[in-house]
Amino acid sequence: MGRGLMSSSNDRRLDVAVLYPDLLNLYGDRGNARAMARRCAARGIEATVTGVDIGDQWSPEQSDLVLIGGGQDREQRRVQADLLRRGNAIRDYVNDDGVVLAVCGGFQLFGHQYRGWDGDVMDGIGIFDAVAAHPGPNVSRCVGNVVALWEGETLVGFENHGGRTYLNDGQQALADVASGFGNNGGDGLEGARVKNAFGTYLHGAVLPKNPHLADRLIALALERRYGPGAGELEALDDGAALRAHAEALHTALSATESPLGRRFA
Ligand code: GLN
Repeated sequence: MGRGLMSSSNDRRLDVAVLYPDLLNLYGDRGNARAMARRCAARGIEATVTGVDIGDQWSPEQSDLVLIGGGQDREQRRVQADLLRRGNAIRDYVNDDGVVLAVCGGFQLFGHQYRGWDGDVMDGIGIFDAVAAHPGPNVSRCVGNVVALWEGETLVGFENHGGRTYLNDGQQALADVASGFGNNGGDGLEGARVKNAFGTYLHGAVLPKNPHLADRLIALALERRYGPGAGELEALDDGAALRAHAEALHTALSATESPLGRRFA
């Protein structure tokens, strides 16, 4: 890898890995990789997207950005042993400022542990200092549109999870819930962040509707690979993405689904 080399915009490249793209792809999470590739291509940054399936040879150090999506408990269980085998390498990658986006079921498995709807416990790889537990089949799932406040901007997405995530003391959340459930519908927190690893419950896919988050991930990955300043990105024509974002905001905020009792419309 050419990490540390400065580079002109024309020869920058990013290698994107998508973990378990077929098994963990709820609500179009694979669209996150497409959004990455498109936003890179529009700036002359060559992005390759590689799927990593169970048993595949892959070292996170080959990658600049690692994406993992959501899945039902059954799919999480299918990938869990393979993910655990990769745990040390992924932790090293995150400690080395590697960029990660982990969504919903993937987010849960990037915490310490997820207890599924049937009570079965799956260990996670402990990137996030968090535990998740499903309260069982008789308790409602957290379903609906989410608006979260992130660094003075909004993030929008769709959530559908039975598991509730609780961050341990000192674990930073990604964002604050404005509408929807977020991590657990109780503490007003959404997602988690450790170094350049982002965890979230937002599907959508989340990146096409939140171009500012997509660009943050790209910028972090470029700076890690090419050094300070390499993450300066030219603006794109985001008309369609911003219309989708506004539409999602409108849908979420005119609904009365917020467990926090907040109404925006
Ligand atoms: N199976 C997990 C849950 O129900 C994750 C679901 C998802 O990824 N949307 O909590």
